[in-house]
Amino acid sequence: MGDKIFRLYDTMSKQVKPLETREPGHLRFYACGPTVYSYAHIGNFRSFLTADLIVRTAKALDWKVTFVNNITDVGHLTGDDVADSEGEDKLEKALRSKEGESFNNVWELAEHYTAAFEQDWQRLNLQEPNVRPKATQHVRQQILAAEDLIEKGFAYETPTGVYYSVESFPKYGKLSGNTQENLRQAVREVVVDDNKRAQADFALWKKDDHHLMQWYSPFGWGFPGWHIECSVMAREYLGDTIDLHSGGEDNMFPHHECEIAQSEALTGKPFCNHWVHTRFLQVNGEKMSKSLGNFYTVRDLIAKGADPLAIRYALISGIYGKPLNFTDQGLRDAQANIERYRKADELVANVTKEGEDKLGATLEELYDQALDALANDLNTPVALAKALEGARLILREGEDLTIPSAASGKRFLDRINDLLGIVRSSYEMAEAPKPAAPQVDPQLIESKIAERAEAKKSKDFARADAIRTELDALGIELRDTPTGTEWVAKSSI
Ligand SMILES: [Zn+2]
Repeated sequence: MGDKIFRLYDTMSKQVKPLETREPGHLRFYACGPTVYSYAHIGNFRSFLTADLIVRTAKALDWKVTFVNNITDVGHLTGDDVADSEGEDKLEKALRSKEGESFNNVWELAEHYTAAFEQDWQRLNLQEPNVRPKATQHVRQQILAAEDLIEKGFAYETPTGVYYSVESFPKYGKLSGNTQENLRQAVREVVVDDNKRAQADFALWKKDDHHLMQWYSPFGWGFPGWHIECSVMAREYLGDTIDLHSGGEDNMFPHHECEIAQSEALTGKPFCNHWVHTRFLQVNGEKMSKSLGNFYTVRDLIAKGADPLAIRYALISGIYGKPLNFTDQGLRDAQANIERYRKADELVANVTKEGEDKLGATLEELYDQALDALANDLNTPVALAKALEGARLILREGEDLTIPSAASGKRFLDRINDLLGIVRSSYEMAEAPKPAAPQVDPQLIESKIAERAEAKKSKDFARADAIRTELDALGIELRDTPTGTEWVAKSSI
């Protein structure tokens, strides 16, 4: 496997080129993670799945992979998507929304959506990153980076914050094509912050002593900008120059452009050698939006009965570099294929028939073709087709499956699962069995309830309470209702 070349489209050089690693056989890879102000939608996950397939392909090629996927839990402003570092923190805004009412504070909100994100990540069978760093746990490094950038002449302080001067970095715009010239032409009519030298200058630090998450810095109370967190965390865990960086196509500008400017100014070295961006997801032919009613989170779809592996299958069924249309039919087709894998997996596990290995050579070839397809700029449609062809071969054998054929089949399914994550979900398999309801004789419970009712009638409340406590210890909770006392086993509450 070691001699195979892994080709990927590079946004910077605008061509498909071999993915090279600075250290032979060791990929250092950073993928921008979610901003945890709400549940991640399936479009976000399409981009994370691209990263997951890159990790899986590299591992299948026998590379070592160090994969970092961060959590943005502070500093992502509503205006950051247009490079002016204005607007409000997305988490603060979320706290004031209807959904935000159930949280006591912004920290709780961040924690809730982080946990939900990690759960969705596991349910869609993505492999865990080596590190999942949080912006709020790297504030000190971000402050130091801002100071360093001022010292090196790339940033300046104003009454409202610390800003990166894009004019100080002539290569600004080389990734997205949004050069300073273009940006000046697109300059907006309202200049929000007069203290900024140029409209495109972006915040490394925002001064704000009212912000719900704030830290003390040499610039006063405030919080770090969104872009600096990724520069700092990529450097901390992967070094000055990383091999690969990915994100959604909406991350390309300004986020990734700003990361390059910051990191290269800080280290004087190239920041990243290969950039991968996943195109948008459409749902039923339209841009996903809440007003159109086609805005799906992973949990929305699961609540509607979708199998998490089928969601995964549908989301990787198109080439990442092209927009994908996610449809109900596509999800049903994916479900049918997931069922095929489950059946094949069951089939190879229960074989007693002696005979020859009729499948080994063909399955080996199909696996190789699937891996080749992924190594060729993540051609998932071809990889999925090759994998399915193998599953069909196993299914076609049915009752005739011999022990050696089944062993080849199992090896194939294991390797396809490692490569594409579509045969079985490690999340489902790891889920702990639910504790069994306590075995307490219902007649005993009823008689205790009757005894407690008697005690209450004769105003022996101490006895009544003692009975409640006794049942509680057995895992039985009593509920007094207008029509009498009911009981429920606590593990089923
Ligand atoms: Zn990022």
